[in-house]
Amino acid sequence: MDIVRSAILGYCYGVRETINKATCCLERAAQKGLPAYSIGNLIHNPNVIRTFEQKGLKVIRRPQDGERGVALIRAHGISDALRKEFTDAGFELMDSTCPVILRTQDIIRRESRGRVIVVIGVKDHAETRCLAGTVTEDGREIESLTVSCEADLGPLFAKYGPQNPVCAVTQTTFPPQLYELLKQRLGGYFSDIVFPNGLCNACIGRSAAAVELLAQNGSAVVIGGKESENTANLAMNLRASGKVVVLIENQDDLDDQTMRTLFENQKVVVCSGTSTPDYVIDSVVSKLEQYKVENYNSEI
Ligand code: SF4
Repeated sequence: MDIVRSAILGYCYGVRETINKATCCLERAAQKGLPAYSIGNLIHNPNVIRTFEQKGLKVIRRPQDGERGVALIRAHGISDALRKEFTDAGFELMDSTCPVILRTQDIIRRESRGRVIVVIGVKDHAETRCLAGTVTEDGREIESLTVSCEADLGPLFAKYGPQNPVCAVTQTTFPPQLYELLKQRLGGYFSDIVFPNGLCNACIGRSAAAVELLAQNGSAVVIGGKESENTANLAMNLRASGKVVVLIENQDDLDDQTMRTLFENQKVVVCSGTSTPDYVIDSVVSKLEQYKVENYNSEI
């Protein structure tokens, strides 16, 4: 019986930057005597959101949700129209949009000069809204169509014939299997289509490390927010092994029955989504260690 940590755990660099900037946002607002905001939930982790709320970082979605202050753009980014709404309303913005997503927005601007823009993304996901809401350098709206599933292809194919040049960009944390399927369908229809970005390498590497580890071990616990796409994808990739995979948000979700099921498979792999803080991972490992000592030590 053992507990094995995956080699890639904790925040990705985009989320780490958002956490650092959230602290800067609070300091800046305090210096200016203004309120501090996060535009949308800071990251997909309720513990962290609560901690920052207690420090004074209020979550708002539009400028009219609060008084003029200092507002943080989180790693997912926001649409250019929303960015303008905030600056027009007198907010000072601190930008922690992940560089991977900023690069995709640049690609959209460049490719929109000669191609139809298709955004492959989960509907209403913040990153999808950010990509679909990209404007040109001089502020003109860029028309794009969002594809979230196969059913969205019908309206796209009805609007644009196969001869239209197309650029299809993707939300970085879109489900990998569905991305491959949609890529195939789009590539089979449009004769001139480019896919200039892809799924986030930080997520791909994290998933590969966990899958490899689970192949040599018995079961896995995945720690991450319930709304986190990359956490859901990680759990899905691990479940493809047919082994026991439990998805939890924090140590409170680990009851005795769950831990018994995990340890029945002898070695438990611990892995996490990109928004899971180290202290939550440590608390989960401690709880597993304690359960192991209390229930199995005599058998070892
Ligand atoms: S998951 Fe990837 S794209 Fe998203 S914030 Fe992290 S590094 Fe950036």
